Amino acid sequence: MRRLLTGFATAFALLATGGIALASDKVLNLYTARHYQTDEALYTNFTRLTGIRVNRIEGKEDELFERIRREGPASPADVFITVDAARLQAADDAGLFAPVQSRLLTSRIPEQFRDPEGKWFGYSYRARVIAYARDKVKPEEVARMADLANPRFKGKVCVRSGGHVYNRTLVAAMLHHEGEDRTAAWLRGLVANLARDPKGGDTDQIRAVAAGECDVAITNHYYYARLLGSDKREDQEVARKVGIVFPDQRGPGTHVNISGGGMLRHAPNKDAAVRFLEYLASDEAQAYFANGNNEWPVVPGVRIDNAQLAAMGSFKVDRLSALELARNTVKAQRFIDRAGWK
Ligand code: FE
Repeated sequence: MRRLLTGFATAFALLATGGIALASDKVLNLYTARHYQTDEALYTNFTRLTGIRVNRIEGKEDELFERIRREGPASPADVFITVDAARLQAADDAGLFAPVQSRLLTSRIPEQFRDPEGKWFGYSYRARVIAYARDKVKPEEVARMADLANPRFKGKVCVRSGGHVYNRTLVAAMLHHEGEDRTAAWLRGLVANLARDPKGGDTDQIRAVAAGECDVAITNHYYYARLLGSDKREDQEVARKVGIVFPDQRGPGTHVNISGGGMLRHAPNKDAAVRFLEYLASDEAQAYFANGNNEWPVVPGVRIDNAQLAAMGSFKVDRLSALELARNTVKAQRFIDRAGWK
């Protein structure tokens, strides 16, 4: 009995110090792979509007996924926020999400960016773009993603690992638009053109272009936006030397992926979870959410004040749905592996 009491005391002490709270507390337990400065305002604003406190557990995407899985029915997680359509769909495939029926969400978020059953919702989108050395490459030469397989770029392409989700979803989109044979040929051409074995993240590829290690690279747009907005001289120098192209403007449009989230099946605070998911689609939250990582809001017409994004300009977005992308990723990885893109 003594031990039991001590156990209770410890549990209460944890609660008091901001650990996981009880359902009656008007709290939302948010598991998130996001950690941006503007997110603070995002949560404070939600609490101000609803009186619901946001209890945040941060971690890497795949760690949080595993944690929710491990916790099972006992998981205190109400909402899971992560990046990449395939990760969201993987969480759904693992049975982690509960469907949310919300008129507000289905009317505000375009179909392309959400699961039709309401298991997950995209809140911002990011583009996979081509970075090029301004002094060696004309932007017209890399107007299409397909151009990176052109022998003209032999030994001149930098890109991160083929196992990374950003590249996997890019190939998933290509499989949809171009079919298997052309995608396989592109992958072979790309691998033959690599300047070096894939290593590092997207920013490393942009830096490698600036350093002259390669002429062209593939990157998510926000890594470039970050360099553009940096107050470090060396970052500004990189942005000055490197240009960005939104590829496939004359074709299906530039491939985009999402950041998003959904309500968990075992969420102890389901009402709070739905309110939070709806709140994220409001004009104000959309601006915070997207701006936090220099992404674009999914809700049409939301205005954001972001000098870097404004400088990068507008572009035609590939309208392939996030769900279709996610469904193609297993196949995409097979094609990537077969081409030897490590
Ligand atoms: Fe990223």
